[in-house]
Amino acid sequence: MATQQRDATTTPEPSHRGPLQPDGCVACGCRLALTLFDIGDFHYVRCPGCGLAHLDPVPSAAELESFFDEGYFTGRRAGGYDDYARDAPLHRRNAKARVRDVMRAVAPPGRLLDVGCALGYMLEAAGRAGFEAEGVEVSPVLAQRVRAGGFRITEALALVAEEQPESFDVVTMYQVLAHVAEPDRFLADAVRCLHPGGVLLIETWNRESLVARALGRHWQIVAPPSVVWLDARRPLELMLTRAGASVVSFDVATKWVSFGFVASLLDAPQRAESLVRIGRLLRRVPPTLGVPYALGDLVTVVARRSDGLSLAG
Ligand SMILES: [Zn+2]
Repeated sequence: MATQQRDATTTPEPSHRGPLQPDGCVACGCRLALTLFDIGDFHYVRCPGCGLAHLDPVPSAAELESFFDEGYFTGRRAGGYDDYARDAPLHRRNAKARVRDVMRAVAPPGRLLDVGCALGYMLEAAGRAGFEAEGVEVSPVLAQRVRAGGFRITEALALVAEEQPESFDVVTMYQVLAHVAEPDRFLADAVRCLHPGGVLLIETWNRESLVARALGRHWQIVAPPSVVWLDARRPLELMLTRAGASVVSFDVATKWVSFGFVASLLDAPQRAESLVRIGRLLRRVPPTLGVPYALGDLVTVVARRSDGLSLAG
């Protein structure tokens, strides 16, 4: 993490930096990065070539994995879930809708891999729809709970790519890509898991959306250190193309969230005091009530693995 104390109230002018990554931008290879904004001690930069933004420095895979333990789902991590399990009815409702989306792209149901499956709601819904579903979950505690439900869970996507290449009809990842150390390698591993012609469905946050542009550093998604990457269409297309897949669609997504989830976005550390107060009020709303999240900053990207992709290298 950044070691230098910065003044969170100032928005510095963009300045040239870098190269930050040894090989330049992970999406386009650009060797420059511009200051985007500072959040307390954390520093975000953006690539002038493709628009991808990220924390500088990028946390290591080990740092991120330790962050996404059980505490991320139980309100003990900034930017995490207030109480993920409490919102189970809403997660099940979302999973059912997501499976309907998958079935529009993949028919008949086949093998499905859900990456970042948390408590396995997507796996349950996919199983009921006729898919043979398994998951990837980095939290050993969560992985064990889903295994107890009878699902096969692997703790790293790279391991599935190595052990089961070209084995799945569809790979899904919901709000996972912003949190990984190396998104380009992560997407390449996901594509390797697919049969030629198989479908990759990614749900992620779009920093080029109106609400993200309007709110800037106050965009509710900007929650360091868990949110490492702030994605956009162009870098996603570049990384997917290099991974051997082509983008079929890029659409705004909606989902149901609890008021507790909205509160956890608002009263995270570093938020303005007015937002924190609203967050505290929302925590009093009964957990059974949901609200449709439709701010236009969440997108679903569907990509298809190219036929005849060489797996060499
Ligand atoms: Zn770039």
